Amino acid sequence: MTVMFAFGDQMNRFAQKLSEQSISLHRGRPEILQVNVGKLCNLTCVHCHVNAGPKRKEIMSRETIDRIIDWLANTDIPTVDLTGGAPEMIPDFRYFIDEVKSLRPHRHIIDRCNLTILLEQGYEGLAPFLARNKVEIIASMPCYSPENVNAQRGEGVFEGSIAALRLLNSLGYGIDPELPLHLVYNPVGAFLPPSQDELEADYKRELQKHFGIVFNKLYTLTNLPIGRFAAYLRRNNNLDEYMQLLIDSFNPATIEGLMCRNTISVGWRGEVYDCDFNQQLGMQWNNGQPIFLWDVNQDSLENREIMTGNHCFGCTAGAGSTCGGAIV
Ligand code: SF4
Ligand code: SF4
Repeated sequence: MTVMFAFGDQMNRFAQKLSEQSISLHRGRPEILQVNVGKLCNLTCVHCHVNAGPKRKEIMSRETIDRIIDWLANTDIPTVDLTGGAPEMIPDFRYFIDEVKSLRPHRHIIDRCNLTILLEQGYEGLAPFLARNKVEIIASMPCYSPENVNAQRGEGVFEGSIAALRLLNSLGYGIDPELPLHLVYNPVGAFLPPSQDELEADYKRELQKHFGIVFNKLYTLTNLPIGRFAAYLRRNNNLDEYMQLLIDSFNPATIEGLMCRNTISVGWRGEVYDCDFNQQLGMQWNNGQPIFLWDVNQDSLENREIMTGNHCFGCTAGAGSTCGGAIV
């Protein structure tokens, strides 16, 4: 049975589902500060939940970066995860990394990279900079064949991604244990990802065989029905069907590992959310009013109830989906 699904309606079916199954969803201790530094990007991918692109003006200022660094310095959060847009495109990207690196104790940094930015004019020194600073790279690569990648991300993106992966390998990424290189797969249509382990084996075999490329792990992600992907589904008249698939695939075993439980999501103005998806939907903690990172303290976030919506079914479908791939 297909149930008509309306975005923005008051009925949160996800919260209902949790309640039916006597599940509560609360935050644990924050372990990752995920900072979305803005919506500027050199690509305009079909599946983008951020609606990012080359004309977007929303980017994080140095003043906001400084406030985030000051806040972080007073916490024991071990990991900073930089995302966007293409995070590397903000003018103070390197400054941000330098400042995080200067903190003690040491913090691990992740850059969520679309690969092609590493080859753009003006960004030539970026890959060596990331390697020097031992920044982990998590890179989008929705397929190991050109047709699917170019269809989802734009003409020529596959070739650019392969060239960037070769560059990263030449710097030791994916080879040196201190330079992890993980790839991200997300479906090119209205379906759930296949088994992460099996797909990782396929990716490793094909990328090695055809291009001599190596990497560490493959993360499979489910596309959430928001942003540009929701518009794409709507245009193709299968938004309701996709939602139903997510709902029917609800897996309670994924709840424990949801990323909203251990991640603080920060927007380009410094405002906080439960996750990057809630951020893109503007789900502020204070009845729609922004609460900024510097207005909260790490301890007070523990046990806070997580704000949910119908899109959350995307994280709990099948094997589950987080920024670190499948959950179960
Ligand atoms: S999915 Fe990533 S690379 Fe593609 S437009 Fe969005 S932010 Fe840019
Ligand atoms: S979208 Fe996913 S990560 Fe975000 S609050 Fe919902 S379940 Fe948690």
